[in-house]
Amino acid sequence: MIFNPEKCSIPDERMKPFIDPDEIWNHLKEQKATPERVREIIARSVAKNRLTLAETAVLINADDPALIEEIKEGARTLKEKVYGNRIVLFAPLYIGNKCTNNCTYCGFRATNKEAKRKTLADQEIIKEVEALEDNGQKRLILVYGEHPQYDAEYIAHTTRLVYSVKKGAGEIRRVNINAAPLDIEGFRTVKEAGIGTYQVFQETYHPEAYSWYHLGGKKSDYNYRLTSLDRAQEAGVDDVGIGALFGLYDWRFEVMALVRHTNHFEACYGVGPHTISFPRIQEASMLKMDGKYMVSDEEFVRLIAILRLAVPYTGLILTARETARVRKEVMRFGVSQIDGGTKLELGSYSETQNQEQDLNKEQFKVNDDRSLNEIMDELLDEKYLPSFCTACYRLNRTGEHFMEFSVPGFIKRFCTPNAILTLAEYLEDYAPPETAKKGWDAIEENLQELGNSKQVQDIRNRLERIKGGTRDLYY
Ligand code: SAM
Ligand code: SF4
Repeated sequence: MIFNPEKCSIPDERMKPFIDPDEIWNHLKEQKATPERVREIIARSVAKNRLTLAETAVLINADDPALIEEIKEGARTLKEKVYGNRIVLFAPLYIGNKCTNNCTYCGFRATNKEAKRKTLADQEIIKEVEALEDNGQKRLILVYGEHPQYDAEYIAHTTRLVYSVKKGAGEIRRVNINAAPLDIEGFRTVKEAGIGTYQVFQETYHPEAYSWYHLGGKKSDYNYRLTSLDRAQEAGVDDVGIGALFGLYDWRFEVMALVRHTNHFEACYGVGPHTISFPRIQEASMLKMDGKYMVSDEEFVRLIAILRLAVPYTGLILTARETARVRKEVMRFGVSQIDGGTKLELGSYSETQNQEQDLNKEQFKVNDDRSLNEIMDELLDEKYLPSFCTACYRLNRTGEHFMEFSVPGFIKRFCTPNAILTLAEYLEDYAPPETAKKGWDAIEENLQELGNSKQVQDIRNRLERIKGGTRDLYY
């Protein structure tokens, strides 16, 4: 969606810093979490309203275990009733780990002399993508350190290269990016290459805390980073992902700031961010953190449930930084995308033997190293519907999560059918027999739930075509 001045309620905020720590702390100090108020706010969210900062502060202040349970239950209800049971799958592909910044929490920081630096050559990228396609992946996120070599032209070049790789029935249909902020011209360049979402995490939204961890390089400029996705919007990249790295500062402040960032986009550009990520700090090469702001598993579940309720129509991404146990537990509360079969070491997808993780070659430790198929198995056992859908972005239905949420019947008409069709492709092309059996049973169950409409007949016809070898059918 291109910027519409009519819709912009706070036009002065465009391209300007919008975080006021006092405003956030005042809400957190003032808002009281009485049971009545908490319940009223949960009900407003389940009725599809985005919460205000004051309302989010009430949920954050609810420390009573019984109220926390109600918040978790509310998030579960919202996820089930509004989004259904789909989980979208993707994999990260690290392209290069050279970096001129000095982010104290990251194994790639310029001052870490132990880090082994590498940038994949084009041929290596092709081999990696072929290996990912052989596993059944359709959606990738390309990840880069911040370095003059990884400029907009290079990001655009590697994006085009990834799209061009086709092996067997395999192809990558959506390339998302996690890289350094660009200027407006740079965002135009990567948009032309056909990127999906551009992610930039603020890491911590607290300006002072930001300066504790970002000791050198371009990234030490808090405001340049904070406004990066405004520049993306100005360049027509309306599909953006925000995030905070939990463990750098008080989680309560970061949740409020993520909601504030969402308000900012809605007010200025008429659409919120496509996704929110909430990585927790993991072990990394030569990492020294005092642990003061570390987020416990319990707090992690809480913050995800609160985010789900606060921004009901934004996708929530949970990565393999977390263990399989934590992922299984928190997925219920509103996560919509996860990675599977994740490897962080540059060039490791195409290695035939599984190597031990070497932290000097990686950004941080992966705690869920299961294969994509093991994850598919678990999702199916847990009654989720795994999806590799890329339809909205390819049909220019951007602001997709907003549409899922606000257009009546959108999920039934598009999301569930596309999840079913992409799952069927996976089952035909990549799944071992046991997974295939489970998957086809899940498809049948989901078709039954869709009822007996003309569209269900159409989906069944398409499934027959997929069994006959046709690929890439979508609504
Ligand atoms: N270099 C680009 C940048 O900083 O924006 C690309 C992002 S970096 C390769 C991906 C993200 O990983 C960072 O934004 C940060 O939130 C996260 N990250 C860095 N160090 C981490 C650690 N030790 N544990 C978990 N996540 C980490
Ligand atoms: Fe470089 Fe990004 Fe790591 Fe910071 S987080 S050191 S910018 S790769």
